[in-house]
Amino acid sequence: MSTEQRSAAPRPLIEAKRIVVKVGSALLVDAQKGRLNRHWLETLADDVAWLRERGQEVVLVSSGAIALGRRHLGLAAGKLKLEESQAAAAVGQIRLAHAYKELLDAHGIAVAQILLTLGDTEERRRYLNARGTLNTLLALGAVPVINENDTVATAEIRYGDNDRLAARVAQMIGADCLVLLSDIDGLYTANPAEDPGARFIPHVPEITPEVEAMAGGAGTPMGSGGMQTKIAAAKIAVGAGCHLCIAKGAHDHPLRRVAQGARCTWFVPSATPLAMRKQWIAGTLNPRGALVVDAGAARALRQGKSLLPAGMIGTEGPFDRGDTVRIVDPGGTEIARGISAYSARDAQRIAGRRSTEIERVLGFRGREEIVHRDDLVLTKVP
Ligand code: GLU
Repeated sequence: MSTEQRSAAPRPLIEAKRIVVKVGSALLVDAQKGRLNRHWLETLADDVAWLRERGQEVVLVSSGAIALGRRHLGLAAGKLKLEESQAAAAVGQIRLAHAYKELLDAHGIAVAQILLTLGDTEERRRYLNARGTLNTLLALGAVPVINENDTVATAEIRYGDNDRLAARVAQMIGADCLVLLSDIDGLYTANPAEDPGARFIPHVPEITPEVEAMAGGAGTPMGSGGMQTKIAAAKIAVGAGCHLCIAKGAHDHPLRRVAQGARCTWFVPSATPLAMRKQWIAGTLNPRGALVVDAGAARALRQGKSLLPAGMIGTEGPFDRGDTVRIVDPGGTEIARGISAYSARDAQRIAGRRSTEIERVLGFRGREEIVHRDDLVLTKVP
């Protein structure tokens, strides 16, 4: 690699704890033959195993189901009707999942398939469930492979591109790095295929209207995302404190190349995922209800601890699991805000109990903490 091809900053990938990698259709599937680029995928699997060995968690968001499936159904080139894409996805997804399983099995890595629809990331209850499953899989050492559930997604309720889906997944699981492996090596001031004067942008500290204007339109014939969906993805990712990199995936070992400083564009967030999450909690305009805590718990919270059921006296108002609530002391003074892991009804039932009693009282094994410290922000004393 020559020096001008090197990026100054592969650090976000090297240092990330949780990495989401989006793999585009054009990389996975040979455009002429409609077959899987197996050799390339082997080198990607090898890179994933390398990241895992470094102690990093990896989630793959993989396209390619439709591109792979259409050949097997004899669907001609050109734009597919929605029902044809749905059918092609059903045929292609099983092949895609099989390929990932086989190649990651060789490294002793368990692969988990997750098919998401727009509702799974946009509706709170389903969002929490999807997030819970992903966190559990990662804790157990698996590599989730995610795609949109194209077979049931209809035109109005679908992402249609995996760039934004990958960004929502990164946000959902608090990933610190998202790599979009694409057929282009990054962002240019104009489309380099049309404008020879287009300049490469290695680093985007802020997504300004000028940056958006650089994105132009149109994607490749196979994938659905162009630069525009990548910028939309970057907005979601950096808004959640996650670094995003647009990198050319076509060479073997695409992730190792990024880690070694291959040319790519980095979008840089202003804070970490945790800090962004806390800002968001602090900024909630309408906390739904309140958890009333005793003086001991109030002290523990101020020292940075989580809120356990034992320190709770009661609740105020109705709220659901996942809602932001106020945490108040016995005198009614707000001391913090946080996301409750239990509904008001359940929180009321376990108030004052030990965490080990939760299962017996509620009939299910929920989280030990009512509000985990990562989901909690102390209220500033004026
Ligand atoms: N979900 C689509 C597929 O697997 C791809 C979407 C995209 O191209 O980003 O074929």
